[in-house]
Amino acid sequence: AIEIKDLHKHFGANKVLVGIDMLVEPGQVVCVIGPSGSGKSTLLRCVNLLEEPTKGHVHVEGIEVTDPDVDIDAVRRRIGMVFQQFNLFPHMTALQNVMIAQQRVLKRSKRDAEVVARENLEKVGVGDKCDSFPAQLSGGQQQRVAIARALAMNPDLMLFDEPTSALDPELVGDVLAVMRKLAEEGMTMLVVTHEMGFAREVADRVVFMDGGVIVEDGPPSQVIGDPQHERTRSFLARVL
Ligand code: ATP
Ligand code: MG
Repeated sequence: AIEIKDLHKHFGANKVLVGIDMLVEPGQVVCVIGPSGSGKSTLLRCVNLLEEPTKGHVHVEGIEVTDPDVDIDAVRRRIGMVFQQFNLFPHMTALQNVMIAQQRVLKRSKRDAEVVARENLEKVGVGDKCDSFPAQLSGGQQQRVAIARALAMNPDLMLFDEPTSALDPELVGDVLAVMRKLAEEGMTMLVVTHEMGFAREVADRVVFMDGGVIVEDGPPSQVIGDPQHERTRSFLARVL
């Protein structure tokens, strides 16, 4: 679970998050939507402390990550993160990309890391690309390698920040299909996305953010299908 209470994040005078409260229960998929600059990425980055919150509390799997004494590496190990840019190592094969953190961070043996890497590459549909380098893969294949890399660490939950926005339209579906499968398997997921079809079909809840606050939070049928706020309606009119 992810529990966010009265979260604020300021960059100097720029108040990017202004009191966010959110709960992602175990096994739930919550999609965050909202205009550019509304604070969506900052929110995700505060959950795994890539940004330090200015004020407020974040709990991940019951551990307070905003506690100054927290072992942040231990917390980060439980959280898989997938970004818009895939951030694969260009000089390593797909297999090596999925093995490296297992060996370095989890101290798995090379043999164990390879078994887990192959399993996860298979799972996301690129089992035949183990020996390919990132430059030899399509964007959709690279992003699935990045997902396999996150899954190989056995995370308790996954954060996705616009995982399909850098992809050519015809490659988006393959990545969304993998995410849908993860959701069906019960993975807890917090997903920033512009893919309204995915949000509508897969999310348990959709959160609409604007100006650093949550404007609307509810099931997709409500937030996307029957929004209550003018700001949500005008945003959806632009993206749908
Ligand atoms: P997009 O849809 O374009 O990805 P977003 O909702 O993810 O937008 P954020 O990336 O969270 O928005 O940015 C929100 C605001 O925070 C922006 O005004 C941005 O300039 C500011 N910001 C984000 N990161 C930093 C940083 N490291 N230092 C200073 N300002 C930042
Ligand atoms: Mg962003």
